[in-house]
Amino acid sequence: MMSDVTCSHLDAITTVKHAKRRECEECIKTGSQWVHLRTCQECGTTLCCDSSPNRHASKHARASGHPVIASAEPGERWLYCYPDDAFAEY
Ligand SMILES: [Zn+2]
Ligand SMILES: [Zn+2]
Ligand SMILES: [Zn+2]
Repeated sequence: MMSDVTCSHLDAITTVKHAKRRECEECIKTGSQWVHLRTCQECGTTLCCDSSPNRHASKHARASGHPVIASAEPGERWLYCYPDDAFAEY
């Protein structure tokens, strides 16, 4: 795993959780739209990115203390830690 920034959260990820669903679990409840999908690496919830109107992945990270998400977009293989603003490909 490669990372420019020191982040113990990213270093702790040994098995990447992948999206179980191809939809934001919060947006789907309200009929909102999303742009890209992210998967929480603590609980496996799939939520929308910061380019989406509701930014559910970012809100989830703050509210739950689950720091790391993975891109759930096909072909993208990276992790991101919100509190450390750290990025790693895998
Ligand atoms: Zn971190
Ligand atoms: Zn959403
Ligand atoms: Zn979570």
